[in-house]
Amino acid sequence: MTFWICQACGLEHPDTLKPPGECVICLDERQYVPPAGQAWTNSPRLQNRGTTAGLVEAEPGLHRMTVTPDVGIGHHSFLVETSAGNLLWEPPGFISEQAVALVRERGAVAAIAGSHPHLMGAMISWSHAFDKAPVYVAEADRYWTRRPDPVITHWSGRESPLPGVTLVQCGGHFPGSSVLLWAHGAAGKGVLLTGDTLFIGPGNDTVSVMRSYPNKLPLPEAAVRAILDRLHPLTYDRMYGSFEHVIDHDSPAVVARSLERYISWLRGDVHDDY
Ligand SMILES: [Zn+2]
Ligand SMILES: [Zn+2]
Repeated sequence: MTFWICQACGLEHPDTLKPPGECVICLDERQYVPPAGQAWTNSPRLQNRGTTAGLVEAEPGLHRMTVTPDVGIGHHSFLVETSAGNLLWEPPGFISEQAVALVRERGAVAAIAGSHPHLMGAMISWSHAFDKAPVYVAEADRYWTRRPDPVITHWSGRESPLPGVTLVQCGGHFPGSSVLLWAHGAAGKGVLLTGDTLFIGPGNDTVSVMRSYPNKLPLPEAAVRAILDRLHPLTYDRMYGSFEHVIDHDSPAVVARSLERYISWLRGDVHDDY
């Protein structure tokens, strides 16, 4: 069986003899088709080229998984420990016996979820490697699923896949864009895993939101306000983005400050003099 992986976005596609002709994720204005054209790979091929996974502790109860060299967008994945098994957040677009063994060392994966369709990688292969653990996909983003499978559970608004972890739909980048709230994280102060729903700036002291990464289209004020409203009731202190960036503490204040500034620029309330 060959589950094809789009080299640009890293999303796995159904088992077919030949690679699919196109990736609708990459044809969408939020992504891109590389100038050299759509290209495909698969996990055995990547493994033969020396691709490996690594797992490091981000804080007690939370591990960060990276794949080297990068596959697709090259995002980081997270493994959140709960009392009923682990949640795999934003799986990589790559799977191998080495990668599964590494994750299994931390215990069974009991649920898989991600912030939006760009960062779901080889989610079905990962589920099948862990006794068909349920994969949570926002109902609003159902269209973008490339490899349909009975393990997919659709949800809207809020959903708690395992004790102490809650998916919160914020919208913005995609209608179903979400964050994961891990209540026990940051020594009980709460952690948010943000995906592309909130993009942490390289100084680890700002966030931004976008209709389109990497094509840099902004969101309208109403969408930014909706994100603020949906985050407002949540208790959290630390935030982890999809790459190496982390806001260590006081994240709600950073979010409020950053997004109010964003709205000021949208409105033209602030400006540079030319
Ligand atoms: Zn793609
Ligand atoms: Zn994205």
